[in-house]
Parts: sequence; C-alpha cells; structure tokens
Amino acid sequence: MKYAMVLVNIKGLGVKTFSYLIPDEMKDIIQIGQAVLVPFGRQGLINAFVVGFSDYIPGDFRVKKINRILDKTPLFSLKYLKLLEWVANYYCTDFVTVLNTALPMRLIEKNAKVELAVSLIKEDGEGLTKRQKEILSLLKERGKSSLIEFEEIAKTTRTTMKKLADTGFVKIEEEYIYRNPLSIFKDVPVEPLYKLQGEQVDAYEGIKSKFKSQNPILLHGVTASGKTEVYFKLIQDVLDEGKNVLFLAPEIALASQLTKRLARKFGIKDVAIWHSSIGEGEKYDVWQRLYKNEIRILAGARSAVFAPLQNIGLIIIDEEHEGAYKQTNPAPRYDARVVARRLAQFYQAPLILGSATPDVSTYYYASNNNNLFEMKHRFNNSPLAKPQVINMQEHGKAAYRNIISKPLQTEITETLERGQQVILLMNRRGYSTYTQCKACGTVIECPDCSIPMIWHASIKQLKCHYCNKEMTFPDYCPQCGSDALSTSGVGTQKIEVLIKELYPNARVERIDSDILTKKNAHIELLSKFQRGEIDILVGTQMIAKGLDNPNVTLVGVLSADSGFSVPDYRASERGFQLLTQVAGRAGRGEFKGKVLFQTYNPEYYAFQSAKSQNYEKFFETEIKSREEYDYPPFSQIVRLIISSENNFRAEKSSMEIAMKFNSMTEKFGFSEYVEVLGPTPCVIEKINGFYRFQILIKNKLSQKGHDFISKFLNKITMPKDIRLAIDVDPLDIL
Ligand SMILES: [Zn+2]
Ligand SMILES: [Zn+2]
Repeated sequence: MKYAMVLVNIKGLGVKTFSYLIPDEMKDIIQIGQAVLVPFGRQGLINAFVVGFSDYIPGDFRVKKINRILDKTPLFSLKYLKLLEWVANYYCTDFVTVLNTALPMRLIEKNAKVELAVSLIKEDGEGLTKRQKEILSLLKERGKSSLIEFEEIAKTTRTTMKKLADTGFVKIEEEYIYRNPLSIFKDVPVEPLYKLQGEQVDAYEGIKSKFKSQNPILLHGVTASGKTEVYFKLIQDVLDEGKNVLFLAPEIALASQLTKRLARKFGIKDVAIWHSSIGEGEKYDVWQRLYKNEIRILAGARSAVFAPLQNIGLIIIDEEHEGAYKQTNPAPRYDARVVARRLAQFYQAPLILGSATPDVSTYYYASNNNNLFEMKHRFNNSPLAKPQVINMQEHGKAAYRNIISKPLQTEITETLERGQQVILLMNRRGYSTYTQCKACGTVIECPDCSIPMIWHASIKQLKCHYCNKEMTFPDYCPQCGSDALSTSGVGTQKIEVLIKELYPNARVERIDSDILTKKNAHIELLSKFQRGEIDILVGTQMIAKGLDNPNVTLVGVLSADSGFSVPDYRASERGFQLLTQVAGRAGRGEFKGKVLFQTYNPEYYAFQSAKSQNYEKFFETEIKSREEYDYPPFSQIVRLIISSENNFRAEKSSMEIAMKFNSMTEKFGFSEYVEVLGPTPCVIEKINGFYRFQILIKNKLSQKGHDFISKFLNKITMPKDIRLAIDVDPLDIL
C-alpha cells in the first residue's frame, strides 16, 4: 500500500481522514491504530492515527510523508474507533475530545519525546552522573516501556520499580502499593471459589439464563447479600470459555480492593487494574499486555471502560447507582454505564449491573425486560438493622448543642463500652454551613460564586466549596456594618469537635473531601478504622461506600433529611440511596447492628422507605412522580449550561438558543416530543465568576429525538465570551 489514511488530533474535524505517503522504511511496520506524527499545514508536526490504507488517492495534489511512527503497538482497532465515534455522537461532543480521553495521549507524546532524548545521549554515557548512568543501563535492559520512567523515576513500572528498589534508588512507598494493589503480591496461592448458597444460586442461574440478552441485567441484592461471590462464579464461567472480563467499581479505592480480591481468586498473572491515577509507566505496561491479550480480567474505575480489553465475554458494573460513573467535567461528559452497554453490544457480551439501591431508571428497564434478579437476605443471615427514627422536633431541644440527641448519645456510649465501632454520617463538610448577619439577615457569599462561604475552624478561614476561595472572617457585615455576624448550621468538622467533647477517651477521626488534599489520607484512615484503631468515624457520604467492617455495630445519621431538600429531580433517589447504603454498614458481622436516623421530617416517603429498607416501596412512589413530570426514564434530559462573565450576555445568548431550538422543533413537528425548558438561571447562579443559565431539553422520542437534538447542537457556534456545556443525561440540574 502506498498511502495511509489518518485521523488528525485537531478539534472540529470529526472523523474526516487525510492521506499521507508511507515512506519505504515504514512499509513493513505500519498498522491500523498506530499513533504517528504528520506535517499538517501551518501547524507543523502533529499527532495522528492510522485508520486505513489505499493505493490510490483521488485528485493529483501533492501528498506529504508520514514523519514517524510514535509507537509500534497499535492503540485501537477499527471496532474500537467505532465505539469512540458513537460516544462522541451520543454526548454531542467532538470526536477528538473523546479520543484524547480514551487513549493515554500524554503517554504517547512523552514516550516519543523521551525516546528522542535517549537517542541523543551518547552510548558511552559521557557527561552523565554515576546515578544517571546506572538508571540508563537499567532502562536499556527493560526496553521501551521503561524509557518513560527516565523522566519520572518514582513512577515507574512494576518490574523496573523492583529493579530500582534493588539498587536502593527508590523505596516502595505506601502510595505505590495503593496505585498498584497487585505489587504487594508475589506468589499468592489461588483460593478456591466459594460455594454459592440459597439466593446466590438462584441469582447465578437466573443471570446465566439471560447471558444472550441484549439488555443490561440487574442484580439487586441488599447490602452484604454476597453479590461478589455470584460475580466470581460468573467470571469463572466466562474465563473457562476463553473470554475476558471487564469489572468496574465506582472509585479508585474500591477498584483497588476489588483487584486484590480478583488476584487472590483468579491468579495475579491474569488480573490488572486501570484508573486515572495509576502511573503512566504502569498504564503503558497494561496497555501493551491488553493489546497482546495477556490480561483476562481488567478491574478499574470509570475510565477503564475505554481500556482496549479484547475478546470481552462479560462486563460487570458494581454499585451501579454511584454518580462517580458519570464524568461531569470536562467533556466528554460520559457515563461509563452507557459506554459499557454499547461495548457489550459490540462484543455480544452480557452487561451486569449490581446494587443494593439501583438507579431508578436501571431498575425500571431491568424489570420491564425481565432482567431483574434479587437477593433479599444477607449472606451470613445476619439481619439488616432496622433504622430507628429520632424525631428531632421532640428530641432536638435536649440534644447536645441541638445536634446529638440523647438516644444517640446513649447508643454511642454503650457501643464504645462493648469495644465496638461507630460511624456517624453528616453529609456536609466544613464546620458550619453559612455565616449570617443577625441584624439584617445577609448571608456571606463567595464573591465569585453565588453560594454561602463555609467556616472551616481548622484553618480559621471561610471557604467556598465551589472555587476553593478562602477569606478571613469579616469583622462587620458588608451590607449594614453590624458586627453581629455568626455561623450557623452544622458540618462534619463541628460534629468531630462535639463528639470529642462528649467522648474525650474515644479515638475519633473525620473523613470528608477536605482531608483528600493529603494524598491517600482517605485510604489510610479507612484501613486504620478497619484495623480497629479508630472508635468513632465521622464523615460525609464517603463513609457510606464499601466499608465492610464486622465490628461496626452503630451507624448514626445526624441530619437524615438534609439530602432530600435539594431542588433536583433526583434528590429523593439520592437521599434514599445514601441512607440505605450507610445503614448497610452496621452489623455485617456476628454482632447485631443498630442504625439511628435523626430527622425533622419523619413522614417523608423516601425517608420512610429508607427506614424500612424497602426499595420496592420507594421505587413505586418515585416512578409515579417521574412519569407524571416526564423525567427519566420517561424522557431523556439534555442540559445546556450557558455561562459568561457578563450576566447580560449569558442571558441573551441562552435566550437566543432556546428561541432557535423552539422554532426548529415547531418547524419539524417535534414540539410535542421534544420539550425546551428555560432558559433559567441555574440554581447555583454563579461559579468562579461565571454567570450561569441553563436550558433543559426533555426528549420523549428516544433515538429519533436524540438525533434531532444533536443535529441542532452541532450547528451552534458560540461567541468567544460565552461558554456552552452540553450534558447528556446530567447527574443533577443544579
Ligand atoms: Zn447586616
Ligand atoms: Zn467561589
């Protein structure tokens, strides 16, 4: 073949290809999917990808040569490219944006750079320090995949890491083990699979019978029902057939835990992990092994859905209700569940979604398709703790500082006396939730975002939770000049302080995203808690996930209604999920668990269902209201956020878009099925100095409606001072 067709890494060109001449020396090695450098107009040399070959090109213009092949290992197959193209269309975003998210582009560029650098170094290592020479010889031994580490010795691949550790250059740190959970294993004997029992057998057989189904299969099992053992049996079956498995967990910590378990059951050789924080060298290694089909089970977080695992025979997405599967910013704003569904269709492989509190839409579709399997009892038959409701209208006054009620105090005392552990959930971080002037009622807001600044006692600053701006506590009210400013509301930091006052002998720690600034603090605290070195753990929803500690017998939710009052159609669903998940952390072992919900709204339906841990009851009420208001699953929502530093300009642009869209829907007879709401100012009107307006599009015509919408959106061009973010199936509408 004489010419290669390439996709260039430039926005706005879609999947348009360009032809380049293949130099003779590349003819034997060039392949579809390789990253190459090509000259492109005034831009000079740019990245491109080989997607096809031909002997002729139309017309007789002069064709330029491919400059070099960046990496011999192809990055994708044509099938994979089709998947990315589909993702770009579905999420109304540029193809190159998706490509850059899916492929480790930085790695490829860097690889090429480092290769160049190394070729410049003289063979005898003249001018190098002793240490540099030693590293260089190690790198040469290992070949290309370790060349990357030349720049970042500390982040090297597992094998190089060991070599470097031997020479004493590098210490294998805790952080490394966290990113590469398999590095702690050497020759761990493979444990036999657990024999399934009771409901597990039914679920396993039921799911097996649906393996040919084109639709997702839902495994709805209460917390601690033993879903993982069912997954493992299914994985074994798929491996036995010679196919591979992709297994997603909502976040990195859970994916790491999962990877270790998989390695123990199926052998370390066949298992690998993929997520956004694994080192680049490690990623490159895994990529190569995936390409050579050496990995049988790939575990990971959201981005692993784009890793090029081959010959997929099963995809599992655990805790499928978690918002972390959706990328909100930047584009592509993809949902790993949606991409996985497409991927499963490509491979004709089953997709299993698992949760104790499924997404309402997932549950709706699975039950309509007869793809729903349930496990209603806990694995070891320990009963689910029945949450007890503390009505704060009665108990609030007598509560410690109006926050920790007497009954909760008593339970905490008794739990500590038994030597057991306590989890306290407070779903707001910071010390207080707002600062207000008692004289005129003014609430101190972030100057760049329209939300209250939150007092952080630990750093003695007011902090904005959107843009992280900090400021000192003002002496006077900016509105009326009074000095009667005081903080109100409760956050995790205040709870931590109060609990330490009440239980001075207990070991108390706090987990929320404020501690995440310290790398791996989250993981360290969780393992400390697991080892029993913490008595009371206070935290936000971060503590509701995945904690499986048999010694936790008390869970207290301090403000159980706080999640339900958010102005978002999914607020009830999220509130219900959080309460049910956190309640599920209690009494997982041999000791009976207790759960206490403190609330001012004991009658609210989602709250009642969480209290009785009755998903079906919650679902019935929720699905009716979704139908009544045409919310998903009865429509698809596309959210447009139009923002600008100029409030007026943002409003004007959003009105223009809405008007154009409305006249389009009328012109093509879609107005009954494609509804345009707004523009309205977003609930959070300003973030980071940008005024925000939103338009919600409700599409009740599924694919046909979606095509219509994306055609319209593709044509919109925005002035320079206006930003448009398109979010298909948004997580929230705040
Ligand atoms: Zn005032
Ligand atoms: Zn701010």
